[in-house]
Amino acid sequence: DRLPVRRALLSVSDKTGLVDLARALAAQGVELLSTGGTAKAIRDAGLAVRDVSDVTGFPEMMDGRVKTLHPIVHGGLLGRAGVDDEVMAQHGIGAIDLLVLNLYPFERVSANPDSSMDEIVENIDIGGPAMLRSAAKNFARVAVATDPAQYAGLTDELQAHGGTLSARTRFALAVAAFNRVAQYDACISDYLSAIAEDGQRALFPAQQNSNFVKVMDLRYGENPHQHGAFYRDLYPVPGTLATFTQLQGKELSFNNLADADAAWECVRQFERPACVIVKHANPCGVAEGEGCADTYEAAYATDPTSAFGGIIAFNRPLDAATAKTILDRQFVEVLIAPDYDEGALDYARKKANVRVLRIPHGEGRNNFDIKRVGSGLLMQTSDIREVGRGELKVVTKIAPTAEQMDDLLFAWRVAKFVKSNAIVYVKDRRTVGVGAGQMSRVVSAKIAALKAEEAGLAVPGSVLASDAFFPFRDGIDAAAAAGIKAVIQPGGSMRDAEVIAAADEHGIAMVFTGVRHFRH
Ligand code: 5GP
Repeated sequence: DRLPVRRALLSVSDKTGLVDLARALAAQGVELLSTGGTAKAIRDAGLAVRDVSDVTGFPEMMDGRVKTLHPIVHGGLLGRAGVDDEVMAQHGIGAIDLLVLNLYPFERVSANPDSSMDEIVENIDIGGPAMLRSAAKNFARVAVATDPAQYAGLTDELQAHGGTLSARTRFALAVAAFNRVAQYDACISDYLSAIAEDGQRALFPAQQNSNFVKVMDLRYGENPHQHGAFYRDLYPVPGTLATFTQLQGKELSFNNLADADAAWECVRQFERPACVIVKHANPCGVAEGEGCADTYEAAYATDPTSAFGGIIAFNRPLDAATAKTILDRQFVEVLIAPDYDEGALDYARKKANVRVLRIPHGEGRNNFDIKRVGSGLLMQTSDIREVGRGELKVVTKIAPTAEQMDDLLFAWRVAKFVKSNAIVYVKDRRTVGVGAGQMSRVVSAKIAALKAEEAGLAVPGSVLASDAFFPFRDGIDAAAAAGIKAVIQPGGSMRDAEVIAAADEHGIAMVFTGVRHFRH
């Protein structure tokens, strides 16, 4: 199943690695054909190359719009060994055994806000994808490279096997070529279908072509009877979960990844050292402080029961001593940090099952949030809205103290990552109680108090964050009964006046954010 490569056609926009590849091919005795700019680059390196226009007897024309769209080229790529030999001979079509091609940089040009529409349209490659498809369809005989990253493997195989490539290699290259064409066309479709009637770019294109690349199959989905896999964006956003490296531990599960995302996104929003422990998609303990050790202790103390088997994320490199404390004390599913001290990794190795993820810091946030409903898709921009101090409106007679203000903003950031209805009690930049996922806000408030009590934490003097407005005064009454001294919430209820009066009655300070953070 190994076939020799005798004749190659090279046509690349990105000339990276081109000359080395051409030289390696020439050294194997491969005849080189090429298009305008590519041929020039090869010739300038002192190698022999034949112009495609010379082979076809047709010049490149229309500023390169038509270069290789010719039966001599496509017949050379598509002709089947043992089937089409006669017709090829009859029309003077020489077989092409290898196509090396990368496409016009449509992605780069269209992403540049300075590009004109004419430039963008000119960067829609026509002959390139056509040749990729011809070569890839004929993987039984032809090999096709679409990316400079493939060149080394290709030349290695040719050199090691007397100038031949295996069927397996040809097939793998063909799949990569079809994937590349699909990505390319999806990008063109996304770009053009996002142009709204007024000529402006719409946030959500008329058609959604997602380009996700499989990272791994998962043992199962959310439940063992479901199948699961993890895909990442073709171009993952730096700093997001998809850029993780697993340093050790068991295979990641579907739920591990979902929870890891919540933990990492929550912890990376804090500037100061912080620790977030997530269980069943909700933070069960969050703390901000001096380093890994104190923040872990404080986060753990919020809810030691739930922390068992949790996902623990830090926004600072994890040190050996804290790693030891965690691993000696509790069962942990996943550890996440931007980095690890060598001692921390040494210690983790003793608990070989613990999954240890490194996610390098990056500024990026995922743009979109996607949810499947029926055979439809709900798309929205991600909830990345931050509320600054200056945006807060004090609505009660008394204002929060500076200390309470810090706690309120901390609680607000935590509440954003708690499933609605979310109520978060905080004191000294650490969670004291978290009420999550309830259908009524007042019950969430009661649960937060109950959790604090169970953990032996005193609520009096704490502050409270609510992800959405209080529809009635009962939530404030419950908070007051628990000893809450200040509240942060969006405001905007029909009964705001009643809710503010309740806060005033209880001597609670309250600020409105004007922003809501439902999370479902
Ligand atoms: P070169 O730099 O060799 O002049 O051009 C290489 C580029 O031309 C490659 O990106 C290849 O995909 C593209 N290409 C090859 N043939 C054709 C064609 O017939 N029409 C168009 N529009 N592009 C082509």
